[in-house]
Amino acid sequence: MRGVVMYAPGDVRVEEREDAKIIEPTDAVIRVTAACICGSDLWPYRGIEALTGPTPMGHEYIGIVERVGDEVRNIKVGDYVVGSFVASDNTCEICQAGYQSRCIHNVMMGSVGTQAELARIPLADGTLVATPGPPDADLVPSLLAASDVLGTGWFAAVAAEAGPGKTIAVVGDGAVGLSAVLAAKQLGAERIIAFSRHPERQALAREFGATDIIEERGDAGAAKVKELTGGYGAHGVVEAVGTQESMWQAIHSARPGGYVGYVGVTHGVELNGLDLFFTSVHLHGGPAPVRRFLPELIQLIWDRTIDPGKVFDLTLPLDEAAEGYRAMDERRATKVLLTL
Ligand SMILES: [Zn+2]
Repeated sequence: MRGVVMYAPGDVRVEEREDAKIIEPTDAVIRVTAACICGSDLWPYRGIEALTGPTPMGHEYIGIVERVGDEVRNIKVGDYVVGSFVASDNTCEICQAGYQSRCIHNVMMGSVGTQAELARIPLADGTLVATPGPPDADLVPSLLAASDVLGTGWFAAVAAEAGPGKTIAVVGDGAVGLSAVLAAKQLGAERIIAFSRHPERQALAREFGATDIIEERGDAGAAKVKELTGGYGAHGVVEAVGTQESMWQAIHSARPGGYVGYVGVTHGVELNGLDLFFTSVHLHGGPAPVRRFLPELIQLIWDRTIDPGKVFDLTLPLDEAAEGYRAMDERRATKVLLTL
């Protein structure tokens, strides 16, 4: 099978890999119908995360089930499926509480590498959700978005307690931040403030439901939120970047008693305890339990209530994945879809 392998920072190749196969009886193998490149794939690409050698890439996927192991009960050959970027049994106490990304048996799909023609899905019954049938072609990007960025933005908006009457601010205008805007709108937020300096991303944020745009960053950005909210701050804030500046920007944009849903993978963030103490905010985040939301998100997409696939602004065949990585690294693209 053809698949993406990263050899070194900046060195991405598409090459022949050994076919994915059933290893555990709870596995499935899917034929991937669309994959994509994640912002987090850029950390090793930029040399910020170390590679231990040639590494298969990718953790977002949709596809058709080709084979299932002997102990797979619910997922069947031929099912069209969407799964989370973390495989989970969906039965342990952590999963039952809705935190499938931290399942006691979790497997990070990045260790599998889904930017490939075939992918092994561990814990198939717990991980995969079948769609009502084969999707129309125009629904494929949105279903793929549900695998990570939409589910992550959704969790962040839930963690920020987005709901009727609420003002929600979103730090980060990448695919996850934009998805969080969409989620906050769908969850009924009254006012949605998006931080962005990019005209195209501002436009998509407005299309997804943002009512206000703030271009300032850091504490200047947080001060602007206070200004827009009668001095109070937002009821809830989504943090979808993961830097020191963005984390404080999010915390300082929230009012005392407010909520911060943080889903940007943090790099070098340190929070001073005393500074945090006097903010009086709720912090809730981490790797999003996308699996919790997948059935609902698939239905919203199937019914064409939401169109999160708009976050993809570049589509390339799998064989041109290297160009996709370059485009995202150089910020020429927000999110790249790879066709198979
Ligand atoms: Zn579990």
